[in-house]
Amino acid sequence: MRRFFIEKIELNDGLCVIPEKEAKHMAKVLRMKQGDSFILMDSHGSRFESIIEDISRHEVTARIIRELAKPESSSLSINICQAVLKPQKMDYMIEKTSELGVSRIIPFYSERTVIKMDEKQASNKIRRWTEISIGASKQSGRLAPAEIDIPVKFDNLLETLGKLGGFKVLLWEGEEYKSLKETLRSNKISENFTGIIGPEGGFTKKEAAMLKEAGIISVSLGSRILRAETAAIALTAVIQYEWGDLGV
Ligand code: SAM
Repeated sequence: MRRFFIEKIELNDGLCVIPEKEAKHMAKVLRMKQGDSFILMDSHGSRFESIIEDISRHEVTARIIRELAKPESSSLSINICQAVLKPQKMDYMIEKTSELGVSRIIPFYSERTVIKMDEKQASNKIRRWTEISIGASKQSGRLAPAEIDIPVKFDNLLETLGKLGGFKVLLWEGEEYKSLKETLRSNKISENFTGIIGPEGGFTKKEAAMLKEAGIISVSLGSRILRAETAAIALTAVIQYEWGDLGV
């Protein structure tokens, strides 16, 4: 059943008016008509099975049939520490890991990050990244969007990692012995998982050594070198599959 999202569902005698933005999509693009059923969601996590009572390109009136259970959010929180990538890649990584249920994204600068931002640029970026995360959580029906941190320097990342409990892995293209699969299989399930992914140019040996010295397990995703955003998305999917809520 199709799902539509509006900021807040306001019921009046069992009816809810869907504003123009969604209404136009329903009427013009999807050519929905009176009597069609759909699921209506809002940013508070409410979800209702609904039927179109009346439809025009400016407004849709929906009759609420029944409230649906809110999705159980997984007890596992996934933090992705991502070296700041070029704009489109970072946007893509944020959108896709958000759809997959990432809890928190911690951007950081490393020796080879191409993008360096001043405070003003960083705050504009955070606004954009937060909008992407909210959009992805609405589209995917998450209860709450992923948290996006202000980018930190590499040294501050180490400090942040020290405060984060749980199980942490470094995705390192230079790792020759440990695979993600064995590492996940041979370690206990944790409520809190953190993955660290480098920039387009990868980690320096020194950075990888500092992360390992901080007790972080470096793992390989195999012989193919993935784009950073692909690695972050793949890691989030694997963790959700292995320990999280990728399933019913
Ligand atoms: N410039 C590096 C090179 O050519 O070896 C590649 C860096 S890769 C594009 C960006 C990041 O994705 C890496 O720093 C790492 O965190 C992750 N990554 C990509 N492929 C990986 C793999 N096969 N194993 C582990 N991590 C990988």
